Amino acid sequence: MDLDRHDFKLDELIGRIQENDHRLVALQVPEGLKMQALEMMDEIETASSAKVVLAADPCYGACDLVHDKMQMMGVELVAHMGHSQMNIESGMPTQFIDVTYDGDPDLAPVIPMLNKHLAIAKGRMENQNVDDDLSEEEAKERFMDAVGRMTPLKDTKLGLVGSIQHLHLLPDFHDRLEKAGYDVTIPMGGARLTFPGQVLGCNYSGDDDTIGHYLFLGSGDFHPIGLVLHTGKPLAMLDPYSGDAIEMSFERIERILRQRSGLIMSSMDANRFGILIGEKPGQMRRTLALRMKRLLEKHGKKGYLLALEHVGPELIDFYPVDAFVNTACPRIAIDDAVRYAKPLITPYELEVALGEKKWEMGYQFDEIP
Ligand code: SF4
Repeated sequence: MDLDRHDFKLDELIGRIQENDHRLVALQVPEGLKMQALEMMDEIETASSAKVVLAADPCYGACDLVHDKMQMMGVELVAHMGHSQMNIESGMPTQFIDVTYDGDPDLAPVIPMLNKHLAIAKGRMENQNVDDDLSEEEAKERFMDAVGRMTPLKDTKLGLVGSIQHLHLLPDFHDRLEKAGYDVTIPMGGARLTFPGQVLGCNYSGDDDTIGHYLFLGSGDFHPIGLVLHTGKPLAMLDPYSGDAIEMSFERIERILRQRSGLIMSSMDANRFGILIGEKPGQMRRTLALRMKRLLEKHGKKGYLLALEHVGPELIDFYPVDAFVNTACPRIAIDDAVRYAKPLITPYELEVALGEKKWEMGYQFDEIP
């Protein structure tokens, strides 16, 4: 990753620090940008009379606010880099800085994938309109999406989304894709998201039934996996760092679903569960955790509420329980399950294991609204 091509918007931040004559400020920086943190601290301290503290614990999202600790330290302003504000109160002056990257990839490599995905979406639309008596099996074959749901489409638009550092590219990509013949929409999500086209690993709320397939601008498969698990729709990815285009294969999603199904099966006979509650403000789902505890009790099983700031195998594997239900960051169960000695499942998956929900109705991604 070429860090020099990121815009950290330090001038705005320094302006705010000078204007308010702050003496102690904190930087909270995501893991991928920590390499440049000391350089940023130098720049702020040289240009202002403030001293800078780096909140050096791991940070993966705006769900993770460190304000209570920073306030105790006497910090007057927190600059939270690389994420946008969520629907949670930070409780002290905070500057969210949506660090941007200036890469501008060529569309050509992704066009064949978009054409293939548009054809899949059109196929689903056409099959929906066939008015004949279908058996349940036949209906499944025709309408089923990548996660096994029968979700009708109203249109086959291309949903254009991205991770936060590339969202500034979306309006221009919208026009370029429309010129190339696609009907493009930049979906606006719910309160957890700030910008049009924004997606998070735990929230894809901009999706609707007019979108038939997706183009994601960003790198890595973290967001794409979540987006396909949530929507069941075909997805192509264009990486602004490398210019590479790839697609999220349905085989990959199937492998994940097989793994989830295996974990559900091995939780069916479990009697004692650890219910994980995230202590980070944007991950704390106390009501959901309590609902899971009541549900376990209803089925004659035991649920122990375990509150943690960070979740890791070394912090929970030793408890004498048979399985864990995770209500903290949803991606801990989905992406990291193999690291744990015992089954680690989502709340929806527990409901399936207990027979309260049916796997056959299609997979439900654990979204934080
Ligand atoms: S809850 Fe998880 S996926 Fe959502 S923003 Fe936080 S770290 Fe990212």
